[in-house]
Amino acid sequence: MPYSKEIEQVIEIGRRLYAKGFIAGVDGNLSIRPNSREILITATGVSKGFLEPEDLVVVDYAGKTVSGDRKPSSEMKMHLAVYNGRDNIHACCHAHPPYATAFSVVEKILPPNILPEVILTLGQIPLVEYAPPGTAAVPRALERFLKEHDGFILTNHGVLTLGRNLFEAFYRMETVEHYAKIIYIAEQSGKLNFLDLDEVRRLEKLRETLGTQTK
Ligand SMILES: [Zn+2]
Repeated sequence: MPYSKEIEQVIEIGRRLYAKGFIAGVDGNLSIRPNSREILITATGVSKGFLEPEDLVVVDYAGKTVSGDRKPSSEMKMHLAVYNGRDNIHACCHAHPPYATAFSVVEKILPPNILPEVILTLGQIPLVEYAPPGTAAVPRALERFLKEHDGFILTNHGVLTLGRNLFEAFYRMETVEHYAKIIYIAEQSGKLNFLDLDEVRRLEKLRETLGTQTK
């Protein structure tokens, strides 16, 4: 199969997602868009912690298998919608990290005005309405947030992050989960200190100049 460098990256990031407890069993899926014709995506029903090159499938933009013997991820429609909707995105990371997924289960938005570094590196993390995993309803629910955001909490499901490469998508997954964990702990410890609106706007403007925003 072609794309040996990309395959290596998917295997490495799958290993990290599993080692960090962001996925259990055969959860999660990863993809890379190496060019404007094809997408490399993990197969369904395999642990992303122990991927082998044959656990990856190359599909075209319509989701048709180009090479690989396994069935592509059941969430392929979500990945295809991202690549069809965002020219600047070349990798997607989907996992079920426990703190962020807990927020998804109670339908609670992560506050957009607490940690400056989260605003600078990721911006707001919207809560996308529930859609049954694997169905066309997932990309439909995602649609209205897709252009403006690089990380999403999927109600009663998990997290999706996007990047210019798979490492960036993975770092964003780490940021979402780390932030959710901090908010959870902070809420047990006392009253959250919210940044004022002017400061949030200043940080958002700064983000535009830092190159951390995927345009
Ligand atoms: Zn999932």
